[in-house]
Amino acid sequence: MLCLGIESTAHTFSCSVINSENDVMGKNKNDDMVLSEVRDIYRAPAGWGIHPRDASKHHAMTAPKVLKECLDNANIGMKDIDLLSYSAGPGLGPCLRIGAVIARSLSSFYDIPLIPVNHAIGHIELGIKLTDLNNPLTLLVSGGHTMILVYHKNKWRVFGETLDITIGQLLDQIGRSMGFASPCGNKIEELSDLSDKNLIYQLPYVIKGNDVSFSGLLTAAKTLIHEKKHNLCDICFSLQETAFSMVVEAVERALSFTEKKEFLIVGGVSANKRLSQMLHLACEYHNSVFKSCPLQFCGDNGTQIAWTGLQSYLHSSSSKVEPEKASINQSWRLDTVDIMWR
Ligand code: AMP
Ligand code: MG
Repeated sequence: MLCLGIESTAHTFSCSVINSENDVMGKNKNDDMVLSEVRDIYRAPAGWGIHPRDASKHHAMTAPKVLKECLDNANIGMKDIDLLSYSAGPGLGPCLRIGAVIARSLSSFYDIPLIPVNHAIGHIELGIKLTDLNNPLTLLVSGGHTMILVYHKNKWRVFGETLDITIGQLLDQIGRSMGFASPCGNKIEELSDLSDKNLIYQLPYVIKGNDVSFSGLLTAAKTLIHEKKHNLCDICFSLQETAFSMVVEAVERALSFTEKKEFLIVGGVSANKRLSQMLHLACEYHNSVFKSCPLQFCGDNGTQIAWTGLQSYLHSSSSKVEPEKASINQSWRLDTVDIMWR
């Protein structure tokens, strides 16, 4: 079965075609489940964040090219597609709408079953698939999420989350204050690596129960930047150490409580090597296997949508929607989604 996944929640417009019969990834090129994946990422002007209208314009303009390239690379046409899935939320309304309209049109014209997918569930389920884990304590850290999750009785349950902004937003906003264009978590990581790591600024460390809060940290780090007398590399180093320690503390508590022997980190921020290193150490201490989503699939991608749509379709007769009812939900919580395939 060939499944086309369409991702458009924020910066990234992506299409991916997977073949359910080649149920492996990356082991042998010829057997790859991913036949083709193409992404085009909206870049904001330097110093600016993502503007939903501009990002949606980007998606509308690039979608035909991305879809064509994706089908061409897989050496197939739309008529060969058996199943279509799209990111229905959570995300930015104007961006989600572009993906939904394209999915709806293709589904009704080619008469292909259509599956709405929760984007966050897509990150988690693709991460599990790619790491061969069974039932891990999962940390989802991205532009839209900072959540610690455990699967229990048909749902991913939240064990801790941010009370305000996400860790991705924290890094992106600090990067913008320094003049970079969003997303800039990788720039913060690069600068932090250049710090001599002797100086750590005292920044607000806020953890309440198993939840974290980053807004005080954001304000304090921005103040240091605006004072223009501190080394930016040291600020980035201090920011990372403080924010990541908060997340690791919450993860450690969840590992102690749940006694999970597997741990998985997914989402765009999981590309950060220092965060992985800190979590790896915590997992060793708790005798838990540490795994991270492969770098190529950390950020938003069409494959997470194709794979999760396929699982939904195969295990739930109610997952399919008629094209005219294929809507979006900007604030679709992942813990409201029924998982029928675990
Ligand atoms: P996603 O929403 O899953 O696509 O993740 C995007 C987020 O990941 C953005 O906030 C990026 O700044 C962040 N990100 C990407 N690479 C890194 C990195 N190396 N370190 C920290 N954050 C990163
Ligand atoms: Mg994401």
